[in-house]
Amino acid sequence: MFNCTWIAEGEDRGHFFLGASIGRYKQANASWTQSVKEARFSLINDADMASKGYTMVDCPASAKGIWFGNCAEVYPLLHMLKGNTNPGAVYGIAVHRKGVLHSQYEDGVSGWAWKAVRRLCANCEELVRMWGGLPANFEPFADMETQGPRAGIHDYTIKDFRSDYS
Ligand SMILES: [Zn+2]
Repeated sequence: MFNCTWIAEGEDRGHFFLGASIGRYKQANASWTQSVKEARFSLINDADMASKGYTMVDCPASAKGIWFGNCAEVYPLLHMLKGNTNPGAVYGIAVHRKGVLHSQYEDGVSGWAWKAVRRLCANCEELVRMWGGLPANFEPFADMETQGPRAGIHDYTIKDFRSDYS
């Protein structure tokens, strides 16, 4: 899975952060997958997490076999949402690997790329709530009604990207 999370309004409008899950990598490197998962969870394992009684394996999505901290959304949420003074301006979208395999870019909202868009899992939905965000902002067609399809992403320029992350 891949995720892009962005700021849709205000001074930081257009800033985004990309994330990915471990995906097939865990099959190729089983010997240290556990360490990677624990390191990822440690980034979100704060006092709030402990007060709710969550652990990496005992979490809202554990019934589906999804461990806390290992989704594509986690790093983007950590950097864009946690501590943000305007958490309602944070939006995101997740795409399954199948959605990025085609050789040609396709941006129609009914095309193959949109069939690979995924909703938040129960863990990520809980993270969004814990950090003051709106789970509805991560629905597949959020940020469309007022600004057009995924306007926050489209307005971002390469120049902005280089100045922020180079
Ligand atoms: Zn998730």
